Amino acid sequence: MELLDYKEEQKIYISRMPELLNRVYGRTPTACVITYGCQQNVSDSERMKGMLCEMGYTLSDEAEGSDFVLYNTCAVRGHAEDRVYGNIGAMKHYKRRHSGMIIALCGCMAQQESVKERMKKSYPYVDLVFGTHVQYRLPEFLYKRLSGSPRIFEIGESEKIVEGIPVHRDGDFKAWLPIMYGCNNFCSYCIVPYVRGRERSRRPEDIIAEAKELVAKGYKDITLLGQNVNSYGAGCDFNLNFAGLLRKINAIEGDFRIRFMTSHPKDCTEELLDAMRDCEKVARHLHLPFQSGSDRILSLMNRRYTREKYLSLINAAKSRMPDISLTSDIIVGFPGETYEDFKETLSLVKEVEFSSLFTFIFSPRNGTPAAQMEDVATREEKGKWFDELLKTQDIISKKLNADIVGKNYRVLCDDYGRKEGKMAGHTVGTAVIEFDGDETDLGKFITVRVDAVTSVIEGTRIN
Ligand code: SF4
Repeated sequence: MELLDYKEEQKIYISRMPELLNRVYGRTPTACVITYGCQQNVSDSERMKGMLCEMGYTLSDEAEGSDFVLYNTCAVRGHAEDRVYGNIGAMKHYKRRHSGMIIALCGCMAQQESVKERMKKSYPYVDLVFGTHVQYRLPEFLYKRLSGSPRIFEIGESEKIVEGIPVHRDGDFKAWLPIMYGCNNFCSYCIVPYVRGRERSRRPEDIIAEAKELVAKGYKDITLLGQNVNSYGAGCDFNLNFAGLLRKINAIEGDFRIRFMTSHPKDCTEELLDAMRDCEKVARHLHLPFQSGSDRILSLMNRRYTREKYLSLINAAKSRMPDISLTSDIIVGFPGETYEDFKETLSLVKEVEFSSLFTFIFSPRNGTPAAQMEDVATREEKGKWFDELLKTQDIISKKLNADIVGKNYRVLCDDYGRKEGKMAGHTVGTAVIEFDGDETDLGKFITVRVDAVTSVIEGTRIN
């Protein structure tokens, strides 16, 4: 895997930017980064914010009035793209009133040729359009545009890993840590492999150095990110898989938690489950998307595992970690899905008893094979199946919640509660417990006993 050093690659632009910004604006300019989509995008935005701060911008939450506005976009759902077009359309008026304003579009949506062409023709006030592979060139793009170069459209692909990018993290005690980029799986409904390229794993030493830095800075909850973390290291010249990486990060000294997402059942192994069991810092939470309980639909989705293989993994996880919290993604109404297929999904949900589910009604994504497949169910039927699924999960969630009353949990206080005088914290699973406290508790581990589960989980702090 070819490595690029950001500081080396971009050094001319990084060093010249402060002087250029001073010449253009005569003050410290502001930048607003607007992020859509998944945690990978949130993490990418943190790196782009890091670059902007290094260049001399201060960050703002308001697009209106900012000197640089960057939309980091998502391509997974069509309606998210429509929202971006609408928001960018509104920027036209701001830009008229704000000389020197630069508007940019990046991320998965921008990586698509059709979007690039639409931006070129219909959005003449958008200055920069760049894809997921070249985000590290942000200083270069801004420098060139601010120096008078024509609009920039750069969506070339690259299989390189770029290290050394500064990061401006959004949180003070929870952090995202990307361990790999891209995806090799080509699930038939998914656009990701087309917009983020093939799998590329970061070197273990770079990941471990970043994890150590996070722990030293006081971060308590580190989530390892990748489209399919279970295939970390595949095809690389270093000899370390994801289970091995977990063990190495677990060995870093300090009181912190390790989470990871997302897993693919095809690559999830018993070796990984052993590592989860053995590593005390790894959260007892496995998000393992199964998408459909029907083998026929799984095959149409190109998921490359069966219902039986999925259930055997779940049983292997439960037998090693009886307290594990399981979550999953489900697509309802995939093209060709019948009620019989859907019943297979429903029965799998009942059998596994997930803590929570992320459920979606299928929506076709242009450019993917599933968008060409024939649908047999109506929108109304799919809506009814979806409601049935939600009701089923609701019963399971209530049952699981009743089981936690009276038990003690160590939570990381990471938010305010819904009522005055209450704080909230996550368990190692997915539960959020509220307890008496104040903002000095933020970022601390606190043990609480669960008293009651109503619309929230209420607890009493033990220490
Ligand atoms: S594993 Fe499948 S669903 Fe996930 S990003 Fe890759 S292709 Fe998309």
